[in-house]
Amino acid sequence: MSKVLSGKEVAQVVKERSHKIVQELHEKKITPCLGIIRVGERPDDLYYQSGLIKVCREVGLDFRIIALDQETNQQQLENAITSFCDNKSVHGILLFSPLPSHLDEAAARAKIIKEKDVDCLTLGSAADVFTDAANSFAPCTAAAVLEILKHYHIPIQGKRAVIIGRSLIVGKPLAMLLLKENATVTICHSKTVDLPSLCREADILVAAIGRAMMINEKYVRPGQIAIDVGINQHPQLPGKICGDFDYEAIENIVEAITPVPGGVGSITSAILIWQTVLACQRMIMKK
Ligand code: NAD
Repeated sequence: MSKVLSGKEVAQVVKERSHKIVQELHEKKITPCLGIIRVGERPDDLYYQSGLIKVCREVGLDFRIIALDQETNQQQLENAITSFCDNKSVHGILLFSPLPSHLDEAAARAKIIKEKDVDCLTLGSAADVFTDAANSFAPCTAAAVLEILKHYHIPIQGKRAVIIGRSLIVGKPLAMLLLKENATVTICHSKTVDLPSLCREADILVAAIGRAMMINEKYVRPGQIAIDVGINQHPQLPGKICGDFDYEAIENIVEAITPVPGGVGSITSAILIWQTVLACQRMIMKK
């Protein structure tokens, strides 16, 4: 039986770390605040929003929500973003995506100032992640994977990491974060040839594909650390979610594994709040 890497346990540690700094800020009469901008009422956005509000309350942050209707135009959206950028009591900004198709998401993201870009939504923050600059925040999901590895003291330096998925929010930035930790990183994707044998070469295998239960016993070997970023509708159990791993097929082969639910997804909100607290702290120090 492999070791289960619990995202909930890691999230608790991240929340406690945030709470400690928030208490110090409270003593200086400062309360970190997350500004959320939502367009429409997508169930995924509402679910993520309620999770974030819960963490804000647990940790002691304020939050502001600008909820725009589905028909909002580009100018109204950009005005909302600018209002958070200009508001000194808002320290982190999150714009839910995808936006309705009539809106220009790239142009909207570009309005977020880097200091408040706590989920790496702007090209400036992404450039910092890709150039190892220390002053921007990585996308929360990629940061969550690193947080799990560090929490469980999993060695990264010199290890072979294989990431399946090359998106700008997970696969690519995670590759940069692991490279920075001196892993040897391979990024795989839908056109990779002989994916199973490449995956078996990994010491750390990360799946960020979005294909329910695709990674089965053919892709793994004993001794591996297996991290599942995927969140998919369960093909057999309506209303349930599952990861990219066929968990039952591989849990007895690999050394350690993250479950879905209860793995990477459980940490993302805690990381976003942590990055908001850090953004606030940096703004105070700059004054
Ligand atoms: P994406 O669709 O942008 O990227 C998927 C990647 O998988 C692509 O790079 C593609 O090349 C690769 N891929 C697709 N089919 C493949 C195949 N058959 N073989 C090899 N590679 C293949 O998705 P994303 O936004 O990076 O998200 C990936 C998964 O992670 C989704 O399930 C998503 O729901 C989940 N996710 C979870 C969190 C979280 O907080 N846990 C956050 C973001 C995304």
